[in-house]
Amino acid sequence: MSTTVAAYAAPAAGAPLERTTVERRAVGELDVLIDIAFVGICHSDIHQARAGWGAAIFPMVPGHEITGVVAEVGPGVTAFAVGDRVGVGCMVDSCRTCENCVAGLEQYCTGGGPVWTYNSLGRDGQPTYGGYSKQVVVDQHFVVRVPDALALDAAAPLLCAGITTYSPLRHWQAGPGKKVAVVGLGGLGHMGVQLAHALGAEVTVLSQSLRKKDDGLRLGADHYHATADPATFEQLKRSFDLILNTVSAPLDFAAYFSLLRTDGAMVNVGLPEEPVLVRLQSLGGLRRSMSSSGIGGMAETQEMLDFCAEHGVAAEIELIRADQVNEAYERVLASDVRFRFVIDTATI
Ligand code: NAP
Ligand code: ZN
Ligand code: ZN
Repeated sequence: MSTTVAAYAAPAAGAPLERTTVERRAVGELDVLIDIAFVGICHSDIHQARAGWGAAIFPMVPGHEITGVVAEVGPGVTAFAVGDRVGVGCMVDSCRTCENCVAGLEQYCTGGGPVWTYNSLGRDGQPTYGGYSKQVVVDQHFVVRVPDALALDAAAPLLCAGITTYSPLRHWQAGPGKKVAVVGLGGLGHMGVQLAHALGAEVTVLSQSLRKKDDGLRLGADHYHATADPATFEQLKRSFDLILNTVSAPLDFAAYFSLLRTDGAMVNVGLPEEPVLVRLQSLGGLRRSMSSSGIGGMAETQEMLDFCAEHGVAAEIELIRADQVNEAYERVLASDVRFRFVIDTATI
């Protein structure tokens, strides 16, 4: 039998979120029912709740940085038991058989998926609803274990901000001897700095101002520069192997490419609502590359959580009540968060 659970939803594009209820499907053979404890507010929630990335499904219950405790498991579930501390990120299903799914890259499923945690249609044709709610039912394949060393509230943002920065840092081999710049010190950026530092890279923050400099250095950055200061671009010319851009708005890309060394790469995980303009000459000169990356696969997400537990890495959060969500959205849009809002779902 399906259950009715309390949730916060945007009734229409750009409308304030309000308390409502959603139906969760009956726990199936391979499903896990999770009592959600905490859910992070990702900038992607805001893009989508305002239909900034195009048509979206309303009412929308955002939230894909979910942690909680297993309340019930289906008869075929082998990986989890009642009482386990778990997390759910940006996806809840995929085809499991395409080349990418088989390779552990479920986020790049080419078999009609992935099914996103919200603002998506499940394989049953029903809209998915995210983590700004009391409970969620998810196939065990898309559930990860939160190590005991990580608190459930500070672990929630790892499920998106953590994996979205960990995956490209690993793919582009951030590590000892590599100079990595992280652009934007928000939710993703503050994870990127901690993870790149823990991986052994020399880390530079490129933020709009020096307002968060003390925090950036405390999080593990070796250097910190303001992008509003033109001298920054002169001083850092041709210095980075990798630039991880987490900014939610378009940038002057040529200026950032000029900071890359020969064969350097700029990976854009920030997903602005507008298309961006790039002059290819600014890449070709030194065989630089520009790319993008989406979250990470399920095995890699578990690897990231274990890595965070081992290295004492977690999100720095501001815990809020659910009725503060609209105010929190405005503060994220104003880059006024250190560094992730997390909703205590007991207040929904
Ligand atoms: P966030 O907390 O708002 O952080 C973005 C940061 O970018 C801000 O803190 C600010 O940093 C900087 N910034 C904002 N507006 C700017 C502007 N106009 N010019 C220059 N810098 C600006 O957002 P987030 O949750 O980290 O998400 C960032 C982006 O990543 C969003 O577009 C989101 O949708 C996307 N995302 C992508 C994936 C993926 O899989 N690829 C996953 C999650 C999120 P400073 O104050 O330091 O300048
Ligand atoms: Zn996200
Ligand atoms: Zn697939």
